[in-house]
Amino acid sequence: CSFAHFSFDKLLMEAIRKSEYEQPTPIQAMAIPSALSGRDVLGIAKTGSGKTAAYLWPAIVHIMDQPDLKEGEGPVAVVVVPTRELAIQVYQEAKRFCKVYNINVICAYGGGSKWEQSNELQNEGAEMVVCTPGRIIDLVKMGATNFLRTTFLVFDEADRMFDMGFEAQVKSISDHVRPDRQCLMFSATFKQKVERLARDALVDPVRIVQ
Ligand code: AMP
Repeated sequence: CSFAHFSFDKLLMEAIRKSEYEQPTPIQAMAIPSALSGRDVLGIAKTGSGKTAAYLWPAIVHIMDQPDLKEGEGPVAVVVVPTRELAIQVYQEAKRFCKVYNINVICAYGGGSKWEQSNELQNEGAEMVVCTPGRIIDLVKMGATNFLRTTFLVFDEADRMFDMGFEAQVKSISDHVRPDRQCLMFSATFKQKVERLARDALVDPVRIVQ
């Protein structure tokens, strides 16, 4: 499988070329065509598999497909991760690819300043938000942002979110994002709680085991 297989546009292909990735990783080769076709995806994949790009690239394609992108408010794509460290890491990878399209991406995690994150969301707006579960819920409750036009939702490291006690928050996010969204979920393991969330949050998902 080569990157040409995904029919990404020139800008994304150029950004991938600059990253010096030679070919898609197995999880990318399996997940990206399904994600681009609009299907929900459940991927069992570990860190180091290239799973981040497997959801970020389809998220970017999805964002760029929105008509009147700069006129709406609230993120089109929301990526939920368990920890501040992972949020920052995913945010940095997202920024690298989002900037070539002028897509604004914001990082919102617990432990960071709620007021700064709130101001950023309200003043700059963001088509993509990378966040931890508790913090995005707080920001929505404060009215700093909303999920009204969120149609691409990602839960990354779902098993770790449960290990950290975020079950209720994850469920709440899934319930508050519109039902016609596309949802991708990644987890290193497939425990019972992950299975339950998959059943609640995903519609007829393509299952991928790395
Ligand atoms: P991840 O599993 O998403 O944390 O990715 C692990 C590392 O692999 C990151 O440093 C990525 O930048 C890198 N990476 C992602 N996709 C590819 C690829 N197709 N080829 C080589 N490296 C990649």
